Amino acid sequence: MAKNTFKIFDVVDGYGHEQVVFCSHEESGLKAIIGIHSTTLGPALGGCRMWTYASDEEALTDVLRLSQGMTYKAAVAGLNLGGGKAVIIGDSRTQKSEALFRAFGRYIEGLSGRYITAEDVGTNVKDMEYVAMETRNVTGIPIELGGSGDPSPVTAYGTYVGMKACVKEVFGTDSLSGKKVIVQGAGGNVGRHLCEHLHKEGAELIVSDIYEDKLEPIVKQFGALIIKPEEVYSFDADIFSPTALGAVINDETIDKLKVKIVAGAANNQLKDEDKHGQALKDKGILYAPDYVINAGGLINVYSELEGYNRERALKKASGIYDVMASIIETSKNENIPTYLASRELAHKRIQAVSDVKRLRVYRDLNLFKMRNLG
Ligand code: NAD
Repeated sequence: MAKNTFKIFDVVDGYGHEQVVFCSHEESGLKAIIGIHSTTLGPALGGCRMWTYASDEEALTDVLRLSQGMTYKAAVAGLNLGGGKAVIIGDSRTQKSEALFRAFGRYIEGLSGRYITAEDVGTNVKDMEYVAMETRNVTGIPIELGGSGDPSPVTAYGTYVGMKACVKEVFGTDSLSGKKVIVQGAGGNVGRHLCEHLHKEGAELIVSDIYEDKLEPIVKQFGALIIKPEEVYSFDADIFSPTALGAVINDETIDKLKVKIVAGAANNQLKDEDKHGQALKDKGILYAPDYVINAGGLINVYSELEGYNRERALKKASGIYDVMASIIETSKNENIPTYLASRELAHKRIQAVSDVKRLRVYRDLNLFKMRNLG
C-alpha cells in the first residue's frame, strides 16, 4: 500500500491564509474545515460546501482555493468583507442532521465573528437555520427570518450589467439590442433571470440546458432558440454566457469559440486561470472575470448584515458595470488579460486598507507613548 505523504503545512503554505480551522465533532459526525483567507477588509464571509471529498487533502485544497477566491470577489465588489469559506466532509443526501449543523454553528461562534457562513453547494436554507441557532454569524437565511432569501435574481442582474460593460467596449454602445447571446444553463436559477433581462433589452437568446424541459418557459416567454449542450461552444454568436458549470473555458473549447465576449455567472470558468485567461486575450475575446460579474450573490448576503433590502442590494450590484469597465481599462492600458487586471484591482484595495490599518496602529502606539511615557 502506498504511504500517505499528505503534509498539512505543505498544502496550506502559499495561499496566504490567516487561519485554517479543523472541526471534528464525533457525536454528530461533523468533520469540517474553515478557511479564513483574509480579514483585512472585514469579516471573512463565504459559503459552506458539503461534499464527499475523496480525501482530506482534497477537502483542504478546496477550502483554501475557494476562500482565497472570496477575498478577491469581496475586494473587487467594494464590500467591507474578507474572504472565507468552509467545507463539511460528507454526503449531503444522507449525512445531514440538526446536531451536525448546530455543532458547525458552535465552531463558527468560537471564531467571534472572524468568519461568517452561508449556504453553498450541498447546503441549503434549512441547514443555515440550524447554524443560526448557535451563532449570529450566518447569512442566507429566509426573508421571514430577517435573511436575504434566494440570491439568484441579484446575481443575474449583476451578470447582466457586467455583460453590458463588455458590450460597450466591443461594440461601442452598451445596448444588448440585437446581440446574439448564448446562455449555457439557461434553465437554472441564475440563467432564467438573466434571460429575462437580456430579452427585455432586445437580445436574441440562444439557450441550452442538460434538462431541456427547463427551457420550455424561456422559449415560450422570450422566443429563445434551443441548442444542444455540446453546440454552445461552436455556435456563431456575439456573447457566450457560461451560467452552469466551472472549467468550461479550456483547451478543447477555446479553439471552437466564435464569440467576441465571454460573460457569465458560473464560478471558475477558466480551467487554468493563467493559461486560458491569456488564450482568450490572444484570440481577441473579451473575458469578464466570473467572480467580478457574479458578485451579486455576495452583495445580496452582505446586505443581510446591514438589514436586508432588495432594492439596496440591486443598486449595489449595478456598480458591477463600473468595476468591469475599469478592469477593461486596466487590461488595455497594461496590455494584460482581464483576469489579471481584476486581481490587480483586488490587491490594490487590500493593500491600501492594510496600509491605513498599519498607520493607525503606529499612530495609536505613538499617542500612547506620548501620553504615558512622557
Ligand atoms: P442551478 O443549478 O440552478 O442552474 C444550473 C443549470 O445548469 C441547471 O439548470 C442545470 O441543469 C444546467 N446545466 C448543468 N450542466 C449543464 C451543461 N453541461 N450544459 C448546459 N446546462 C447545464 O445553479 P444556479 O444557482 O443558477 O448557478 C449557476 C452558476 O452560477 C453556478 O456555477 C453557480 O456556482 C454560479 N453562481 C450562482 C450564484 C447564485 O446566486 N445562485 C452566485 C454566484 C455564482
